[in-house]
Parts: sequence; C-alpha cells; structure tokens
Amino acid sequence: MSESKLRVAICGGGIGGLALAVPLSKHKNIQVDVYEAAGRFAEIGAGVMIWARTWRIFELLGLAEDFAKVADSEPDPAVGFNYRRSDVGANGFHWNFVSMPYGCIRFHRAHFLDVFVEHLPPDVAHFGKRLVSYERREDGDISLNFADGTSAECNVLVGCDGIKSVVRGQLLRDKAEAEGRPDLLALIEPRWSGTVAYRGLIPATELPKHETLASPMMYCGQDKHIVAYSISRGHICNVVAFATEPKNEDAEFPGKDQWVTPCTKEEVSKCFAGWESDVGEMLERIDNPTKWAIHRLHRLPFYVANRVALMGDAAHGMCPHLGAGAGQAIEDAFILATVLGVATRSTLDAALEAYEQTRLPVANHVLKSSDESGKMYEFNSSFGEQYETLGPAIKHQWDFLTSSTPEGEAEKVLSIFEGLK
Ligand SMILES: Cc1cc2nc3c(=O)[nH]c(=O)nc-3n(C[C@H](O)[C@H](O)[C@H](O)COP(=O)(O)OP(=O)(O)OC[C@H]3O[C@@H](n4cnc5c(N)ncnc54)[C@H](O)[C@@H]3O)c2cc1C
Repeated sequence: MSESKLRVAICGGGIGGLALAVPLSKHKNIQVDVYEAAGRFAEIGAGVMIWARTWRIFELLGLAEDFAKVADSEPDPAVGFNYRRSDVGANGFHWNFVSMPYGCIRFHRAHFLDVFVEHLPPDVAHFGKRLVSYERREDGDISLNFADGTSAECNVLVGCDGIKSVVRGQLLRDKAEAEGRPDLLALIEPRWSGTVAYRGLIPATELPKHETLASPMMYCGQDKHIVAYSISRGHICNVVAFATEPKNEDAEFPGKDQWVTPCTKEEVSKCFAGWESDVGEMLERIDNPTKWAIHRLHRLPFYVANRVALMGDAAHGMCPHLGAGAGQAIEDAFILATVLGVATRSTLDAALEAYEQTRLPVANHVLKSSDESGKMYEFNSSFGEQYETLGPAIKHQWDFLTSSTPEGEAEKVLSIFEGLK
C-alpha cells in the first residue's frame, strides 16, 4: 500500500516546515518526512507575532485552540502598533496608531513551535539530516543526499530550509545551467538590508508600568526603530531594536556569514543614546542581547522546478518589518498542503504549479513591502516625516492581510489545479 502513497520530503523543520508537515500528515495518501539538520526542533528565545489572517489558518487547520493557550492577544479590534517619535530626548510624542482585528497576536517562539510539534505524528521527523544536494532521477523521483552520508528518496521535495536555503541554491543553479540563464545565479544569495537588529527579552517585573506591556509599541527615530511587545501571558517583554545605515543597503555584510552574534547591553544602549527615557530604561534591562544582520532575498521568478518547491524563508526571506515572514510561511504551507492533498503522482506537476501561481505574487509583494515599511518607520521613505500621510501609508502596507481570505486562496489553488491537470 505504502508504495502508492505520495512521498513528500520536507527539508527543514522550522515554522514553515512544521506548518506543512502537520496538515500533510493527516492525509492517508501522503507519506511525509521532515529532514532537519539540527538534533531537535528548536526556535530561538525571542517573540514572534502573527495577524488575524494567520490565526484564521490555524482555525481552518484545527490548531487554534492549542495556539490560544500560548498566545498574548486582545479582543477585536486591538492595537496593531502604537508609534512614537522617540529620538528626541524628553520631547517624544505619539504620532501614529494602527489598529487591526485582534491586533498583533504574540507568542514566545519556543511555545509557538511546540504547538506544531505536538501535532506531528511519530516517525515523521528525522534529525541530524543536513541536506547537501539532491538529484532528479530518470523515473522523475528525487534522491536526497545528507551530510552524514545517508540518502533518502521522495516524489516531491519541499525546501523549507530558511533564508540560506541549500535547496534554493541548487534549484537556481540547475535551472541556470539547463536553460542557459546565468542571470538566475544572482538570485541565490540573500542581500543585506544595511540594518542590524538587537534582540532580547526582559522579565515584565523589571519594567513595572511600562507602556509596552499594555500595548505593542514601535519607537521610531531617524535610521532606527524599536519594536517591543509582551509575550508569555504578559510575563516577558520582547524587544527588537533596529539600526540602519542606509548607504549600506545591498552592501556586503562585513561579518560575512556571521549574521547572529552576541553583544553587550552597553552597545545597545549606546546605539540609542539620547532617545526618550522609556526606551533607555527598556534597553538597559535586556539580558544577553544578540545582534542580527537583517538580510532578505531578491524576488524569485519561480518557487517550483522539477518537482522541487520552495516555501517560507527559502522562497521569500524578508525583512521583519511587517511581522509577516512566519505568517507567509504558514500560508505557503496551508496552500501547498491543500493542493498536495488532492494530487496524485500523475498530477503532481500541476499541483506544484498551482501552488506557485497562488503564492508567488502575494509573497513577493509582501517581501517588497517589508523593505518599504522599514524605511517608513525610520523616516527614510518618500513620505519623510510627514506624519499625516506617513501614518495611513504604513497602515496600507498591511492591506494584503484583508485583500483576500485564506479560504478564498485555498479555493483558488484548487481551481487553478483543476484547470492545469
Ligand atoms: C528579527 C526578526 C524578527 C522576526 N519577527 C517576526 C514576526 O514577529 N512575525 C513573523 O511572521 N515573522 C517574523 N520574522 C520572520 C520569521 O522568523 C521567519 O520568516 C520564519 O521563521 C521562517 O520560517 P522558515 O521555516 O521558512 O525558516 P527557518 O525558521 O529558518 O527554518 C529553517 C529550518 O531548516 C533547517 N535547515 C536549514 N538548512 C538545512 C539543511 N540543509 N538541511 C536540513 N535542514 C536545514 C534549520 O535548522 C531550521 O530548522 C522575524 C525575523 C527576524 C530576523
């Protein structure tokens, strides 16, 4: 029996890979295997936020009840973000307010990933399996080669291996060679945004009465901004402080491959010296901050080739300025699982093409908008400091959340699939 199953290999067990594995594992006609390089599923110690659109996907997947147990959120409508001008010492002021249905729904990343892990059947996960390459065989199936010398086979490979994706690298190299398109090689490597982000957590008890525990905050200044919100049922404050050198946009990151490094809280405080006191009080309390070089991808012209599909950060790794990278990965997973759920080996190519047609335009749009939003928060967009027009423009960057529904997109992928198969 199992020979007739569709064998889906997922490379990478982060948020995207697990969001795909959970719904696929419910299909009797699909065998799903997750190959994860690390020794276990793990997320970094930091916060992650999603919007109501992603919550709707959790409802559709039957996961909402369990995510609700670890979420911090407010009733509808709630604060998306409260914006302050903060690089003006004691003269800081409120200048923009974005409200959203259910606001910004916040989680500790470890708890967030755990919900997916708890819904994963045994035997799906394979740890210590770092993919190094794959080959398309003559029968159309794919052989996977891992760093530990082992191999595996599948009918379709899904690259969920993050922004430095090995799968994306090979997919683009193979296509460049097969089609005589050396231009595709330039799309493999992520580009530095010119921004570094200082990240860390603060116990809420160290910030009594701080406004960020009451409402997600965005503290803005020239070339810098700070996102702060509560997680873990209000017990922890998650802080991400961004500092940009606009001239370095698309420059080579001086730290080369070292995108995440430890740093001191003195470095963080120094970077934001002269900002309003609420900011200073917060930053000096971050224990063991880390410094991240924020990279993003070029917009890829395709996410699928030869029964290999990309999703999540492997397909559209983006700046975090719309709080959308994980949400987009989860929506990729939802759409791909929907169409693979009705596919057979003979209709696999149509299913993957339908996935690409549905997701690529939206996710690439969000990738571009995330870049733009960062510039808006740091007064480097064409709106400059014109608060009256900048505020509404910031809100419009999130229009993709409501311009369609996850159910509508699921219907769309199925209808495209019907037309192609
Ligand atoms: C500062 C910051 C803040 C952010 N905040 C938010 C937010 O609030 N909301 C939001 O929606 N998004 C946010 N994001 C983006 C979000 O974290 C990512 O978009 C999301 O985690 C991508 O998930 P993924 O599964 O595609 O990739 P990843 O999380 O990178 O997972 C990739 C997985 O693949 C594994 N892997 C890698 N290479 C291989 C290989 N060769 N073989 C096998 N396994 C491999 C890795 O070990 C990992 O488990 C933020 C990003 C940053 C940098």
